[in-house]
Amino acid sequence: MSQRKIVIEPDPILRKKSEILEKVDDELRGLLDDMLETMYSAPGIGLAAVQVGILKRIIVIDISKDKEKKNPFFLINPEIISKSKNTSTYEEGCLSLPGYFAEIERPAECQVKYIDYFGKKKEIKATGLLSTCIQHEIDHLNGILFIDYLSKLKRDMIIKKLTKQKKELDKVVL
Ligand code: ZN
Repeated sequence: MSQRKIVIEPDPILRKKSEILEKVDDELRGLLDDMLETMYSAPGIGLAAVQVGILKRIIVIDISKDKEKKNPFFLINPEIISKSKNTSTYEEGCLSLPGYFAEIERPAECQVKYIDYFGKKKEIKATGLLSTCIQHEIDHLNGILFIDYLSKLKRDMIIKKLTKQKKELDKVVL
């Protein structure tokens, strides 16, 4: 396993649509393991492949609070088949938008079908934080970031600040 570099907004790849995966093999599992390690060390509770620069429809999630008992969850080609009418609001952050958080309202429950780590077809009903997390990560696969749910004014302000931070970082690197 090795850590990958996380793509930070603004970056055009974060706005691209990820592609469906055709098969689950060892190469893919290697990527999933890398994504998990990258997410844990960030630390974060969810990561989409596009966030490490790979436009494939895969996400890794671990919402377990206990650091000792890890509970990784891999979703390949995830698809939301139904969403509840009732909503819930969580303060969301994103590894591609370091330092920014906002309250986002989303459907409280969703039914999701996906392919697991071993290539098996699965379906779950996600509730609570898991529901929000899956929706946030699937948004990434469609080129959507949580700041897209904010007003244009707020969104532009965050992107402007991140652009400035990136430029300063580049100067240090050079
Ligand atoms: Zn994110």
